[in-house]
Amino acid sequence: MEKAIKLCVNASMCRGCGSCQLACSFAKAKVFNPYKSAIRLDYDPESGHTAPAILPLSCNLCGGFPTCVNICPYDALSTEEKPGLNYKILVAV
Ligand code: SF4
Ligand code: SF4
Repeated sequence: MEKAIKLCVNASMCRGCGSCQLACSFAKAKVFNPYKSAIRLDYDPESGHTAPAILPLSCNLCGGFPTCVNICPYDALSTEEKPGLNYKILVAV
């Protein structure tokens, strides 16, 4: 049975370092190239921070073990898991 994983973004914690973009591109394409990543970084006027936006059609959730969550040094990315559902993505900024 697949796990349901929600990928959560806390914009107020993000410092715009770009580590998640590079880690994602390496996980997906074995290159360090932000344009090969499923993450775009944009300024979020509500929080006043740069915030990652996950591109749902490009993100495969790293097979259930999100690289971006593990690499973020500021804990701006996290997951929630629920059993019994298909993979899902939640982007909350
Ligand atoms: S989410 Fe984390 S790794 Fe990505 S840019 Fe923000 S602080 Fe850096
Ligand atoms: S979970 Fe998605 S956004 Fe995060 S590194 Fe994997 S493919 Fe990229």
